[in-house]
Amino acid sequence: MSTQQARQESPVELPIEPWLYEARPAPGCAVCAALMEQRAAASTDRERFALSAEIRDHRGH
Ligand SMILES: [Zn+2]
Repeated sequence: MSTQQARQESPVELPIEPWLYEARPAPGCAVCAALMEQRAAASTDRERFALSAEIRDHRGH
C-alpha cells in the first residue's frame, strides 16, 4: 500500500514581482513606443524594470 502525501506547492520565488514588468503603452504615444522598444532591447531585468516603470509613470500621452 503506497501512501500518498499531499504536496504543498510552494510558490516560485521571483526576485522581482511580475507586475513590475507590466507596462501599458498608450496607443499612438511616441514616448511610450520608444520606451517599449528600449525595453525589448534591454538585456537585464534591472533595465526592463526601470523602463516598465517609466512607461507606467508616463502621463500626458
Ligand atoms: Zn506615453
